[in-house]
Order: sequence, then structure tokens, then C-alpha cells
Amino acid sequence: MQVSEYIQSLIEKVRGGNPGQPEFHQAVDEVLESLEPVVERHPEFRQAKILERVVEPERVIMFRVTWTDDRGDVQVNRGYRVQMNSAIGPYKGGLRFHPSVNLGILKFLAFEQIFKNALTTLPMGGGKGGSDFDPHGKSDGEIMRFCQAFMSTLYRHIGPNVDVPAGDIGVGGREIGYLFGQYKKLTGEFAGVLTGKGLGWGGSKIRPEATGYGAVYFAAEMLGTRKESLKGKTCLVSGSGNVAQYTVEKINHLGGKAVTLSDSSGYIHDPEGIDDEKLAWVMNLKNVRRGRIREYADKFKTAKYTELAPGMDSNPLWAHKADCAFPSATQNEINEKDAEHLLAGGVYVVSEGANMPSTPDAVRRFLEAKILYGPGKAANAGGVAVSGLEMAQNSMRYGWTREEVDNRLSLIMKEIHKTCVETAATYDAPGNYVSGANIAGFLKVANAMLDQGI
Ligand code: NAP
Repeated sequence: MQVSEYIQSLIEKVRGGNPGQPEFHQAVDEVLESLEPVVERHPEFRQAKILERVVEPERVIMFRVTWTDDRGDVQVNRGYRVQMNSAIGPYKGGLRFHPSVNLGILKFLAFEQIFKNALTTLPMGGGKGGSDFDPHGKSDGEIMRFCQAFMSTLYRHIGPNVDVPAGDIGVGGREIGYLFGQYKKLTGEFAGVLTGKGLGWGGSKIRPEATGYGAVYFAAEMLGTRKESLKGKTCLVSGSGNVAQYTVEKINHLGGKAVTLSDSSGYIHDPEGIDDEKLAWVMNLKNVRRGRIREYADKFKTAKYTELAPGMDSNPLWAHKADCAFPSATQNEINEKDAEHLLAGGVYVVSEGANMPSTPDAVRRFLEAKILYGPGKAANAGGVAVSGLEMAQNSMRYGWTREEVDNRLSLIMKEIHKTCVETAATYDAPGNYVSGANIAGFLKVANAMLDQGI
């Protein structure tokens, strides 16, 4: 069988064997399609069935989470941990609490995480987990009781040398604190079993900032290939959570101007720019008061709020004129029409803070237009990279300064960028960061799997 037929048959097999998991199919299709030239050059991977093995999780844990709300009513949610691949290190990847969470979404995220973690140069395998629990509108007490109930099952399956979860959508510093407290109570051990911990109890400086900062460093590297910088660039940012906030902060540091932020209800456009003072207000709104982004337009008269109606076929956020876009909310938030609007509005840099925010048709548009397109598994790898640094600091029982961690983060993002560029060129796809990231991440994991036998 020709290599292209082999890849297509494997894609069909994954679809048939994992019904009802469209996000997982989407992530697998993209990676497998870009691996065609690798399989041509390395028949040993095909012979050892590395591709067949890499799409199959090593282990999936699904469990009931029972807790009581503030009224004393019993609530039941479903918890998950997908332990996808441990060829190069302990499973590593975030926990997502959002009502849309299901097995297919977590498998897509865990699959992406394998290659992203390999790109960081640090020894981390791929995993992801979470729950369909919706933290919106819950009291602190409810969040705490849910986290405790979730950890009461998860603790048996994780450990500093086994699996080290972190945050993702709906899981930030507050939730990591409650999860860590329960792990410690159940095991009697103070262990580096989660990353994103508080600075006073084993957390790393720059971890909250790392994903957003990293996505902006990656954009700066891409611009550097055209002898340009972020200075004076107008930037569209979606989301208003952890990744979006620190993306805006770093855009401001580097002299760019961020003009949008969003949540699942709508978005604000502030043509004057979201400067550090306005950003501090957003951080208080989102991280302390836990309010909605529409309030921004009441507070700052330079901005306009647009509500997003359900069923819209494109998101008007992406139709504003700009140079750069940093999707930082969720998967598939940029469809083909949005991609057309971005290109028509002058955007020629897309650096993905979110995981798989662009649909396959949108990605195709970006690649055809030959813009600087940095896919999530490369552009947002800064978060897990600093999680890796947090694990190293925990092992040493030592902490680096802010400058040391930020320097390491910046160097890692440069290295990831260089690896993507060089790998893409070696495999006859110059300038294609999708091929570069998928192939480079895969090669590291595939070689480790070969070394370790069947
Ligand atoms: P977060 O702090 O919970 O913020 C998520 C933001 O995205 C919120 O503004 C949220 O709005 C919006 N959002 C979530 N689901 C949405 C949906 N279905 N439709 C529209 N908007 C939605 O989460 P985060 O940590 O910033 O994560 C954002 C993205 O970055 C995710 O794709 C995540 O996987 C990726 N990522 C995160 C990290 C990390 O270190 N945290 C690392 C790598 C990649 P609402 O409040 O209205 O829901």
C-alpha cells in the first residue's frame, strides 16, 4: 500500500473506532496528513505501528463526581483523565471544567499535548482531563467541594512521576489550590503533583503569564523572519481568561496595541487599545469579581460591546482591521469565513494561544495565503514549558527568579520556532509551521517509542 493510502486508511480506522468524537478526528487528521513525508523516509515507524499506537490512549479514566451545592442538593458530574502517551516523560496536561467537556474533546486535547510537550524540549508525556462541571455562577464553597470530590478519585491515578495535571479552561489558581489541598489530605504528602500552584507553596514565577507571553514571543519570532517586530502592530485577541489577559500584557510590553477581548456572550472593541491600566481592570473583573466582558464598554467609553447571537455563521471580532490575531478562547472559534475576514482585514500573523482554535478550512486559507500562521501546539507551548520548569523547581526544592523563568521561557519559544522552521524546510514545506510542529513533535516521541519496544 502506498504511504498516502496507508495514512488515509488509518484516518478512516480512527473515525470508525472513535465514533462521535469530531474534535479528536480533526486533530488526528491534521497530524497524520502532515506525517506522510515522515513515513516515506522512515519505514521503521510504519513497521512498528507507531502511528497506530500514538492515536490510541495508553489509559482513560472516567469517574463519577458527587458533591453537594449550597442548597444541600446532591449534584453529579463526570470526571476524566486521558493518559495519552508517556514515551518521553510523565503524562502532563491541563484539567478543563466546562459544560462542553466530553471524552472526544479531552482526547483531542491530550493528543495535541503529546506533540506540544515534545516540542518544549522538556521530558513530559501527553495527557488531559477535566469535567463537564460548569464553574460559572458557582460560589467559592461549591467550587471547593467540587474540586475535593474530583480529586477524591483522581488522586489514585496521578503523582509527580506518573501524571502531573495543570489548569485549562475553568481551572485557574483557585481550583489548583483546592485540588492540591485535597491531594495532600488524602495522601499525606506534599508533592509536586500539580502545576500552576500558588507562589507561596511550590508554584513557579511566570506560570500564570506563560501561555499568553509565549504566544506573543512566538509571534515576535515569526515576524522576525520578515525583519519585523510587534511594535506598532494592531492585534485582535479573543477570550478574556488566563491566556488572553497575559497575551494583551505582553503585546503592550512589546509596543503593540490589543484592541479586542471576548467571552462566550460577546466581545469588546477598543480602538484606542487595551493599555495596562484597562487590563488591570479586566483582570479584576475576570479573576476577582468574575463578571462579564460587556462591563468593559460601560467603564471605558472608547470601547463598543457587541453581543454574539447564537447561530451566527461568523464572529465579527475577526472582521476588524488589524495586523495580528491571537485566538485565546477555545477550539474552532475561527471558521473559514472568519479566516477570510481576517485576511481581508489585513491580518498576516496568527499565533494561537488556544488549542485548535482554527477549523481545517480556516487553516487551509492561512496556509494558501502564506501568512505567518503559528498553530497552537507550537505557539501556546509556553504554558506547559513553564509547568515543566515548575516540576524541575519542585524536584530541586528551589525556585528561580522571575527574570530567570522569563528568560528560559523566551529561549524555549525561540527554540520551538527554530525547530518548526528547520523541520518544515527539511521535509519540503518551507514556512509551514503546521508541518514543522507536527513532524518535529512526532519524531521525538516516535523515536522514544521505538527505543522502548513493543
Ligand atoms: P480561561 O481562563 O477559563 O478563559 C477562557 C476564555 O475563553 C473565557 O473568556 C471564556 O468565556 C472563553 N470561552 C471558553 N469557552 C468558550 C466557548 N465555548 N465559546 C466562546 N468563548 C469561550 O481559560 P484559558 O486557560 O485562558 O484557556 C483558553 C484557551 O487556551 C483554551 O483553548 C485552552 O485549552 C488554551 N490553553 C491554555 C493554557 C493555559 O496554560 N491555561 C495552555 C495552553 C493552551 P466564558 O467565561 O464566557 O466561558
